[in-house]
Amino acid sequence: MGVTEFRNEPFTDFSQQENREAFEAALKKVQGQLGRHYDLIIGGENIATESKIQSINPSDVDEVIGYVSKADKELAEKAIQKAAQTFESWKAVSPDARARILFKAAAILRRRKHEFSAWMVHEAGKSWPEADADTAEAIDFMEYYGREMIRLAGSARLIHHVGEDNNQYYIPLGVGIVIPPWNFPLAIMVGMTTASLVAGNTVVLKPASNTAVIAYQFMKILEEAGLPEGVVNYLPGPGGEVGEYLVQHPLARYIAFTGSREVGLRINELAAKTAPGQKWIKRVIAEMGGKNSIIVDKDADLDLAAQEIVKSAYGFSGQKCSACSRAIVHQDVYDEVLEKTAALTKELKVGEAKELGIDLGPVTDNNAFEKILDYIRIGKEEGRLIAGGDKAKGNGYFIQPTLFADVEPDARVAQEEIFGPVLSFIKAKDFDHALEIANNTEYGLTGSVFSRNRAHLEKARTEFHVGNLYFNRKSTGALVGIHPFGGFNMSGTDTKAGGPEYLLQFTQAKMVSEIF
Ligand code: GLU
Repeated sequence: MGVTEFRNEPFTDFSQQENREAFEAALKKVQGQLGRHYDLIIGGENIATESKIQSINPSDVDEVIGYVSKADKELAEKAIQKAAQTFESWKAVSPDARARILFKAAAILRRRKHEFSAWMVHEAGKSWPEADADTAEAIDFMEYYGREMIRLAGSARLIHHVGEDNNQYYIPLGVGIVIPPWNFPLAIMVGMTTASLVAGNTVVLKPASNTAVIAYQFMKILEEAGLPEGVVNYLPGPGGEVGEYLVQHPLARYIAFTGSREVGLRINELAAKTAPGQKWIKRVIAEMGGKNSIIVDKDADLDLAAQEIVKSAYGFSGQKCSACSRAIVHQDVYDEVLEKTAALTKELKVGEAKELGIDLGPVTDNNAFEKILDYIRIGKEEGRLIAGGDKAKGNGYFIQPTLFADVEPDARVAQEEIFGPVLSFIKAKDFDHALEIANNTEYGLTGSVFSRNRAHLEKARTEFHVGNLYFNRKSTGALVGIHPFGGFNMSGTDTKAGGPEYLLQFTQAKMVSEIF
């Protein structure tokens, strides 16, 4: 199949009036669709349950985004059986035909991109640009994985051996349990789901409860793109009941998960146990948390460093596993970087996600809100409060961008993932000390270094132990195909989403040798 070269979807320029108007119109359209009911989708069959997940707008907790049916164990069993049954036909569909469904779905999403971004503004509390980037990344994942599957299908660079015809094929695994997060409710959900199906697997998709409506909207795109019924089964439900049942099921071949360290480890533990009748070792593809650092060296561009620290720490209220929560600054420039960062932090605007021009929307829900405020209380004991330090006003889960100075490297706010707009400044004696502090966590996801010292950058290149290391730029915003994403240690299995090895995790290689 002939395909054009992969290109990243451009972000929308909201300084253009026509773009602003188009986005406003999309927000209005979605506003008119709030409060509807959504069914489960198993094998193409819509199933309404008595009990519902109520999805609300974190910017305005009185606004219901939708009522989503909630699966139980019985429905989980039905979904997994359906996925297993559909696998028998789906695995025989050619990689080209599977890829074409992704390209078609990407085209539909591109046409309706503002509408999907608008759903994220309402349901996930994303600002316009953050929602727009999320939608662009979802489009990218489909365009990229479609091409990757075509490449894999024709690849296998085996050494020629006289008199033999040798081939290696990348065949699917089986039924995948896909458990995406609420923080990239479109991009990561689409990425894990479409990687699964383009590789020939079938899926039970258990979306995050906070963002189950967005996932439903995407199911409709897959349907429109011509995906056969039963390839992806939409099954929102409680993690403890439905998630655990699916993960432990003997027909589950792999679990693709993005979320917290706690849940990821639980999944890994459950998946490691062989269920009666199970014929394989389950594969766990996990992206978990981070405790990410930005190092500022003494000869760095300090204005740039402060700007990028602020973007990395407070973008989407710090609710990215790539977010920076620790600025580790050389003692010679510590006060200056702190002052610049504080000044920028104090300028940030917190407000409802639907307002263009806000820097921070709300955090996702009441649990997150309470947890972050608890960490802010702890931070006040462990450091010197420079900015923020409290909730912000509004009828939602708003928290001020909060900055602590003089935090010890082993303090709780410097070690535990907060997943909110809370940043700690840590003073380093020299560059080596900064690297040592940066590596002192159990995570290893992202990191940035600001320096003009070539030797220091080279040292960081080998010694800063993170999956995504950035020099003289922010630690967030990995682009598909350009910055494959995934981390070390307790940050997960280093999946490298959006990279050339990603699909291998969703396939198994079969070698066939024939003597001529
Ligand atoms: N890929 C995103 C980034 O680079 C982060 C993904 C996540 O938070 O899970 O910012």
